Amino acid sequence: MKKIVILFATALVLLSSCKRRPSETKTADYFDKSGMDTTVNPADDFFGFANGGFVKNAHIPDDQSRWGSFDSLEQENVKKLHGILQEASAQKDLKKGSAEQKVGDFYASGMDTLTTEKLGYEPLKPMLTKIDAVKDYKQLIDLLAGESKNGDGDLIGWEVSADQSNSAYNMVNMFQTGLSLPEKDYYTRKDSNSVHQRDMLVAHAAKLFQMTGTSEADAAKDAKDLLALETSIARSHRSPVELRDPVKNYNKMSVAALQKLSPNIDWQATLTRIGIKTDTVNVGQPEYYKALSALLASQPIGVWKSKIRYDYISYRAPLLGRAFRDEDFKFSQIFSGEKIQKDRWKTVVESADWKLRDVLGELYVKKYFPPEAKKRMDELVNNLQKAFALRIDKLDWMSDSTKKVAKGKLDIILKKVGYPTKWKSFDDVEIKRDDYFGNYIRLNHHDYSELIGKINKPVDKTEWGMTPSTVNAYYNPTYNEIVFPAGILQFPFFNPDADDAINYGGIGAVIGHEITHGFDDQGRLYDAQGNLKEWWQAVDGERFNAKTKNLATQYSEYTVLDSLHVNGDLTLGENIADLGGIMIAYDAFQLTPQAKDTVKIGGFTPNQRFFLGFAQVWRGVVRPEFARTLITTNPHSPYKYRVNGTLSNVPAFYEAWNVTDKNKMYHSPEKMIRIW
Ligand SMILES: [Zn+2]
Repeated sequence: MKKIVILFATALVLLSSCKRRPSETKTADYFDKSGMDTTVNPADDFFGFANGGFVKNAHIPDDQSRWGSFDSLEQENVKKLHGILQEASAQKDLKKGSAEQKVGDFYASGMDTLTTEKLGYEPLKPMLTKIDAVKDYKQLIDLLAGESKNGDGDLIGWEVSADQSNSAYNMVNMFQTGLSLPEKDYYTRKDSNSVHQRDMLVAHAAKLFQMTGTSEADAAKDAKDLLALETSIARSHRSPVELRDPVKNYNKMSVAALQKLSPNIDWQATLTRIGIKTDTVNVGQPEYYKALSALLASQPIGVWKSKIRYDYISYRAPLLGRAFRDEDFKFSQIFSGEKIQKDRWKTVVESADWKLRDVLGELYVKKYFPPEAKKRMDELVNNLQKAFALRIDKLDWMSDSTKKVAKGKLDIILKKVGYPTKWKSFDDVEIKRDDYFGNYIRLNHHDYSELIGKINKPVDKTEWGMTPSTVNAYYNPTYNEIVFPAGILQFPFFNPDADDAINYGGIGAVIGHEITHGFDDQGRLYDAQGNLKEWWQAVDGERFNAKTKNLATQYSEYTVLDSLHVNGDLTLGENIADLGGIMIAYDAFQLTPQAKDTVKIGGFTPNQRFFLGFAQVWRGVVRPEFARTLITTNPHSPYKYRVNGTLSNVPAFYEAWNVTDKNKMYHSPEKMIRIW
């Protein structure tokens, strides 16, 4: 589902080996005490103690689905990007093809709602006419394959990225697709909320059909057909938990084998039509392509045409006039809970950030990311990396031979901070001041050409998967790399003026989190070069799995909205990373001068502040609708458990905050889980 992007991740970054200042002269306190609730016992509910005041008084802006440390920073970044776009857009006589001209004219075209309104759904008509003309499923697949370059072509999910067993080379990776709801269970759950969501999909589709010229009666029928068809497709889908298994989702096969699996699609012709030249592909989820082949032949072509028409219109709705955007928003609301649509300028800024990523990113970095910040961040990352190597040495459950290989993998981890060393060219894209829809399509062409050009070629490890202004961070297993965009290298994640405790608890734990992803239940399956390859001694793998199974059980007991349980299997990798991250950050903090003295700041000891800094990062509230969506699809645990679930397994936390067997955050030594 394109619109509900749920990736917040883990995050962040930043710098420093923080110069230490004598604490007695410090006046500012970089932990926000006004967000605390000191009536809560920290040993019972540390999240509530550190963040309860914030939670109680938080006002989620009407155009947001959640509000917290990540979100406020993200909104600040959106404003910064907005400033860059406005400034460029106001300049006269910019050189055609320059970065400023591209971003400025893209922005102007997006804000030109007069033209957009005048056009109505005119931009959709050529494709809708083509869909109308389709006579059978063979023509349908041919049409979709041909439209891939425009960014359409749903039903055949493909991208180009590293081959997981030969990670130095790219390959075509195919994946399951074809659903409008977030994941398969949305089509079969019986609770009233899920029934409502399906009803809303039907109503939404019917409305979009009517808005593009279908009669009311036909629109209602087509929309029902759409849901029935997607329900059949959903049966073949793998669940979010199943998708987390890298081995099960790596099925490299010849195109001939794909043909056998999915006989009703002429794959040689289809791939050629898309523009793909290859003999082998990875079919992530073969069941989907098997089912697609059968459903193409068994379902009436009219039903398929409704499906393709819906996919096309709903995907393009945000680029059209007010009525389409309103309808699009109304449907997304049931998953996000947002009260009002974002202002037009915000959506245009977000589009510009993603579609013109390197062009706008370079301007952003020039203005907002000083080189010193990168240097300090590099130091902090190195400190965390060293601390993790020491922890690996001390593990009592891992054999020496596995330790050696683990440290080798840790040692060569690729570290990216701030922004790409090489900006990609967008010279092939023409951006016009009066053609938002066309700009979008031309940028889709650019993306398509880039992908096609990479097939079966060596990977370029200088590539980034996030834009520089993004408030987030990631680990990529096939590159064995950790990546911290400039956008997250700011307060509240990091502040060079804050004491070490706050920074190591905040950004330090985030860095540790990303590093340990290379060794979580998924990351551990990839070797140092990023290949899916067993490198653990069998006995180490068994011990690791036993520990992580207990961690999954622990988290599955937590609930949100009173009754929905956290999915311990879905969130396992992130929970392992949260736990590993805080352990490593704590070790690294212990090496700082502040950790060695006992001077209190704001009434708290250095170690207490370290944990407060950690909790502050996860400060946030979420609308119930969005919380419900997240619990079924997001591999990260809810904020409260990212704090309480993690710290209830940390002995140093018990010591700092005096947790005993009388407290709710207490686990007995047998129940306490230590992985790293
Ligand atoms: Zn993570």
